[in-house]
Amino acid sequence: MDSRNTHCLVIGAGAVGASCALHLVDAGYRVTLVDRLEPGMGTSYGNAACISPSQVGPYSYPGVWKNIPRWLLTREGPMTIRWGDLPWTAPWLWRFWREGNAAGVERCGQAQAALMRHVHDDYAAQLERTGQTGLLKSKGLVVLYDTEAAFEGDRWRYDLGARHGFGWERISTAELKRHRPPIQHDGVALYVPSWKHTLDPAKMTAGFAHAAIEAGARWVNDTVEAVIAGDGRVTARLAGGETLEGDRLVVAAGPWSNQLAAQLDYAVPMAPKRGYHTMIAEPGLDLGGPVMSGDRAFVMTPLADGLRLAGTAEFARLDAAPNYRRAKVLVDSARRYLPDLGAGGATEWLGQRPMMADSLPVISPSPGHPEVIYAFGHGHYGLTQGPTTGRLVTALLSGDSPGLDLSPYRFDRFRR
Ligand SMILES: Cc1cc2nc3c(=O)[nH]c(=O)nc-3n(C[C@H](O)[C@H](O)[C@H](O)COP(=O)(O)OP(=O)(O)OC[C@H]3O[C@@H](n4cnc5c(N)ncnc54)[C@H](O)[C@@H]3O)c2cc1C
Repeated sequence: MDSRNTHCLVIGAGAVGASCALHLVDAGYRVTLVDRLEPGMGTSYGNAACISPSQVGPYSYPGVWKNIPRWLLTREGPMTIRWGDLPWTAPWLWRFWREGNAAGVERCGQAQAALMRHVHDDYAAQLERTGQTGLLKSKGLVVLYDTEAAFEGDRWRYDLGARHGFGWERISTAELKRHRPPIQHDGVALYVPSWKHTLDPAKMTAGFAHAAIEAGARWVNDTVEAVIAGDGRVTARLAGGETLEGDRLVVAAGPWSNQLAAQLDYAVPMAPKRGYHTMIAEPGLDLGGPVMSGDRAFVMTPLADGLRLAGTAEFARLDAAPNYRRAKVLVDSARRYLPDLGAGGATEWLGQRPMMADSLPVISPSPGHPEVIYAFGHGHYGLTQGPTTGRLVTALLSGDSPGLDLSPYRFDRFRR
């Protein structure tokens, strides 16, 4: 399609939507980018800041349910369920459980790897384009497990990554000291070299949006209340009273995308897999690079303005109030590895991962409206896969070859 005469509305200025807007404007499209928050202030604001291509395995897998009682009963455990919200979360949890079979693990591994193979190249290009190459660091990832048994329980995930080209190695105590000097740990330690991290995910994401705006995209700071598509036109009605008209619509509203998809097509099996962070401005130490606790499912990442402790999972309604005890527990967990960790200037945050039941994103035309493209559901990896998704969405809109099979990410895959 002739991009010069085509006006695209992009809803959502997170890592995914901002990347879509930037690729579209660079491909010559007229773009309007809408978000009720400032760019990069949704889920993309407070994540663990890691570009994590080796993570190709799904979160529902054979045997996962055996761990759940232990996870739920441990104060520092990686998972909680808000029991009062169970009527709302149970259908998704059921669907998620059904995806957790051996065939699903293989399918997810292949489909995630097909995206992950491109993320570093796409990041390099997008950071170069937006003048932000200094925000990315290549320090790999260190993973810690308390016991051999805990590591063996997760080993399949690292082996799956390795089968798709993302290697890992066990490291000695001396090597651990070299990679991450302040860590004190006498259990299992791994090193995953393919990981990178950004010094500021919010600033970086905002940088993508601002580059799109500087290149000609219109920025609208408002809430989209209603969307309509048909006969080659799209309309978005805004809370502030304005109505936006365009030729194409990109729904990149992260965990809120189902509210728009339900108006256009139908809601897909996506749930907010909530996570927390505590950001410590004065940690009193230099970690050297990201460290993940395999037992407690959180990551410690050194950022430009302090040390971020981010992770864990909480299943609750999208609009449920935060439980910041989950963020405080992260500091106790971190002190298991960093006994001298300071907590000066600590702030807490809740974020909602847009988590599909099969752990794969939606990067897809709408089944009912050729004017609409969906780009959401990236779960744990929206920061990682944002630039790649922006490139693929632009290829879908332009009718260019995306260079990979996009069928695993189809919107309608749960109905076929
Ligand atoms: C604790 C935690 C740690 C994580 N760590 C990592 C990590 O290390 N690496 C990684 O790759 N990923 C990580 N993630 C996941 C990652 O943050 C998300 O996958 C990613 O931010 C999703 O990006 P997005 O652009 O789809 O959504 P968002 O960043 O949430 O953007 C969606 C935007 O849409 C806007 N919006 C929604 N509805 C409307 C509407 N109706 N009108 C107007 N605007 C609307 C919102 O305001 C928001 O700004 C983590 C997540 C959490 C919670």
